Amino acid sequence: LIYLDNHATTRCDDRVVAAMLPYFTELYGNPGSVSHPAGHLALDAVNQSRELIAQLLGADPKEIIFTSGATESNNLAIRGLATRPRRRGNHIVSVATEHKAVLDPLKRLAREGFEVTLLPVSQQPSAEAGIIDLQQLKNVLRDDTLLVSVMLANNEIGVLQPIREIATICHERGIPLHCDATQAVGKIPVDLRQLDVDLLSFSGHKMHGPKGIGALYIKRSEGRLRLSSLVDGGGQEQGLRSGTLNVPGIVGLAAALTLCVQELPAEMIRLATLRAQLFALLQHEVPDLLLSGPALPDDPAQPLAGKVGRLPGNLNVAFPHVDGEALMMSMGHIAVSSGSACTSASPEPSHVLRAVGLSEDLTRASLRFGLGRFTTENEIALAAQAVGQNVRKLRSLRDA
Ligand code: PMP
Repeated sequence: LIYLDNHATTRCDDRVVAAMLPYFTELYGNPGSVSHPAGHLALDAVNQSRELIAQLLGADPKEIIFTSGATESNNLAIRGLATRPRRRGNHIVSVATEHKAVLDPLKRLAREGFEVTLLPVSQQPSAEAGIIDLQQLKNVLRDDTLLVSVMLANNEIGVLQPIREIATICHERGIPLHCDATQAVGKIPVDLRQLDVDLLSFSGHKMHGPKGIGALYIKRSEGRLRLSSLVDGGGQEQGLRSGTLNVPGIVGLAAALTLCVQELPAEMIRLATLRAQLFALLQHEVPDLLLSGPALPDDPAQPLAGKVGRLPGNLNVAFPHVDGEALMMSMGHIAVSSGSACTSASPEPSHVLRAVGLSEDLTRASLRFGLGRFTTENEIALAAQAVGQNVRKLRSLRDA
């Protein structure tokens, strides 16, 4: 298998697994049971992991709430803020290209009477495809806007939203900003002091860590932002997320983030270089292919250069004149995705590609490549060759 679907999930790094293993067997205490050493040892591990994660992201340990993943973090941020007893209004602003783990909680709130404004994004073809217009954001903010939620990196086209500028605009109006940074944390530098968001979601399994663990950062400035909890019980995680802590997962999340941050500068360049190779090879195989999302950087050694940034490991291309479903079926042992893997249970074309202006046919005939830590140059070459062969074959069948 050639695995090029690292936006869907990543292989857990062996070093992360090694760090986690003792917490399944010897060190299995409940961090809430502090009356004996087993609990203490588990609590120590949780505390150390929390401190490490906070430090790596420029946060305070008290600002990190562990959850089961980014879906839960997004739900806690959005629903937790919208349903708290004293809030400033009923209006929420987000973006058409957000992940379903933001859009669906918003849909539910809309059914319950909240008013949701979804901003459009810039259309392609454009070097800046996929970002929101800041003036448009300013225009839709109201006195009763209770939250703005904008992702940092898109999971399909890799586009990076200008979160720092968005935070400034929101804060001028006293509105909190939530950021779904699931695809960004561990892949590009994320410094919470610099980003200045109020809430930020991330997840272990997107950064070569384990599945089923994630976190929500909640800024403490003048006291913590008040959120309603979604899960009540033993009062863990400051009462915001009850339930016995996932100690091996938390240790794994900290280990995974540590490795990502250590390797990040070199890894961003390595991935941007592989992506440039993949794109060049694909263009050679299929000269009329179309790049979706923002322009690739001119120089992979400057992976985030350009007016609009893009995740170094992301490529999304559309192949005109082929049947999308047949193209996907033809990929065989090459794991890629058409549209979002998270929504592949529903056959609808990707809402992200539609939002940047792709036709329904081109959306279906798109492939998303997500390169990761274990991707090699050889795999890139084999994948490009296979795509070329498949596209030519499907086109010849179509013309026959
Ligand atoms: N947000 C984004 C942008 C994602 O890519 C994903 C995973 N596809 C999620 C949220 C959901 O994360 P999790 O699987 O940890 O719940």
